[in-house]
Amino acid sequence: MLFDAHTHLNFEKFSDEERRTLAQEIEESELGYIIDVADCVSSAIQALKDADDYDWCYAAVGIHPDHASVYTDADIEEIRKLAAHPKARAIGEIGLDFYYGTDDREQQQELFRKQIRLANELRMPIMIHTRDANQLTMDILTEEGAFSEERKSWFPMRPGEGSVMVPDARVQMHCYSGSPEMAEEYVKLGATISLGGPVTFKNGKKAAEVARRIPIEFLLSETDAPYMAPEPLRGRPNKPHYVQYVVRRMAMIKGISYEEASDILTANGKRFFGIED
Ligand SMILES: [Zn+2]
Repeated sequence: MLFDAHTHLNFEKFSDEERRTLAQEIEESELGYIIDVADCVSSAIQALKDADDYDWCYAAVGIHPDHASVYTDADIEEIRKLAAHPKARAIGEIGLDFYYGTDDREQQQELFRKQIRLANELRMPIMIHTRDANQLTMDILTEEGAFSEERKSWFPMRPGEGSVMVPDARVQMHCYSGSPEMAEEYVKLGATISLGGPVTFKNGKKAAEVARRIPIEFLLSETDAPYMAPEPLRGRPNKPHYVQYVVRRMAMIKGISYEEASDILTANGKRFFGIED
């Protein structure tokens, strides 16, 4: 069984028909669970609808930094309400994206801080998107208590290397693209490193090095579909069940079987998002 810890079945450009077809393909695949991730209020509503429609679908609700110049506090209140849905399992994707322009950077930080506070208030996992803002993301998470002892006390300990139990801050670094050293630092702080398509890319050496260095106990598998299709499908629209290529590559890097990697990464995903069935 496979776990896709970050995907967009709710993608706004999908018609209902396209979404149903994709759901059917998922049901015919090895994929056991997906986390359907929102980027704004309307996408969070669709993600929760998907979660209502499909047993294997859970949702993350939040406002992506791309919406920093247009969101209102009423949107955050709406996210708070949506987060009460029993299948809403994280606040996300939230964070910083400094790839495009510089004019909304202050607003991005403000939106990010407000949503970390919301996740702390609701004691929910946090799903992070960060691009071209690695250090600032870590600084803001730390300042807002995402790695505080108090936050870690809300979640059960997690198995670390050699089955030693260690604290879990339930912070997912989605499609992690920073340095291996920073990934190690994040794990020490209690975060979890989530890897997708780039780990399969020929020029994805950094992601592969992260997969090699970080113990598998602290890794999640994801697609970010419909973006970021893995090799050998790079350049095409991505699909949640293509997570198998990510898991195959992670297994190869770790020197374990595909089946073993699938089992561990699924168990990690279920634990992170509190899925018990
Ligand atoms: Zn995403």
